[in-house]
Amino acid sequence: MSNLAKNYNRKKISFKYGRGSYLYSTDGKKYLDFVMGIAVNSLGHAHPSLVKTINKQSKKLWHVSNAFQIPEGENLAKKLCKKTFADYVMFQNSGAEATEAAIKVARRYFFSIGKPNKNRILCIKNSFHGRTLAAIYASGSKKMTEGFGPKVKGFDHFTFGDHKALEKKISKDTAAIMVETIMGEGGIKVIPDFCLRELRKLCNKKKILLILDEVQCGIGRSGDFFAFEKSKVKPDIVPIAKGIGGGFPIGAVLMNKKVASGMVPGTHGSTFGGNPLAMSVGNKVMDIVSNKKFLNNVKKLSKYFLSNLNKIKEKYPGIIKQIRGRGFLIGIQLNQDQTNFIKNLMENKLLTIRAAENVVRILPPLNVKKNELDEALKIINKVCSQLK
Ligand SMILES: *Cc1c(COP(=O)(O)O)cnc(C)c1O
Repeated sequence: MSNLAKNYNRKKISFKYGRGSYLYSTDGKKYLDFVMGIAVNSLGHAHPSLVKTINKQSKKLWHVSNAFQIPEGENLAKKLCKKTFADYVMFQNSGAEATEAAIKVARRYFFSIGKPNKNRILCIKNSFHGRTLAAIYASGSKKMTEGFGPKVKGFDHFTFGDHKALEKKISKDTAAIMVETIMGEGGIKVIPDFCLRELRKLCNKKKILLILDEVQCGIGRSGDFFAFEKSKVKPDIVPIAKGIGGGFPIGAVLMNKKVASGMVPGTHGSTFGGNPLAMSVGNKVMDIVSNKKFLNNVKKLSKYFLSNLNKIKEKYPGIIKQIRGRGFLIGIQLNQDQTNFIKNLMENKLLTIRAAENVVRILPPLNVKKNELDEALKIINKVCSQLK
């Protein structure tokens, strides 16, 4: 009997070790891992540079309090700001902490300019921002909030794509709009660039803040460092996590100078956030992933992969409804429930994971090789032909 709480419906498989794009199970099988800890292991398993970095740092210093200077964190914050819209960074340990902190930054900004009533956050219905109390009520999902009342107040919702409802939902008490640039758990739904630009315009017009949750789609996953970059939009606040640690838990909130002015000493903190061990790994991931050549390769290979997935879709229109996504944040939307399809892929040694709307989510490591993509395409094609 397992003593782990039953909040997960786990597959009956465990792994001994991982190398690059592959996982090796305790029962001696080799799997192509296109889950990557849900977009977390951005450089695959046991990346030699990351192994070296963590080994080296582990012999020097793991943790000190944020009461002291932490040069490794200063360094990573500098890199993140140099590469992006941001002027300041607050380090956390996870995605939910990062989205919560993003909400705190938005509210605190309006408090600090004498408008404490502006504290409501407008989100997409059935989005995903994490599993803490505020984050589940931000999602507006019945499934995630059921049984966890009383309701955390301060969140309003609009339906994905319903621009009119969105504008109507903005009240004098709205502080910010918070959306995922590409909805991950929600089924790999990309907010088009023109919508992002309209969102920015709307926020400017209403004098509210734009929070883009890039916990899943950020850090090179889309082929750009941030998924919103292509649209040329500059958000005010961006929570990140998953990919930045390459497998080590790191979260962060990036923000511009204007909103950072509210975060004076004592307003927020985290015991573990920004510790030297995490920061040294984050620096290494950042150095590799923010490189232009690296990102161009993600763009090139993901284009190849997506176009071949679309060819499979044309061959099996009865099975595949739509190929969605950008970069290596990809969804295969099926015409029916995806459970059996995922099981068949797994039996053929390809690991994938579900998302909402009958979507099979495919998340290769960002440094995946072309022959590994070909291997996955072959398996997906085979499973389609078997299920046809
Ligand atoms: C995963 C995710 C989160 C929550 O991250 P945790 O580390 O699980 O707390 C928040 N927002 C988005 C968009 C995510 O995909």
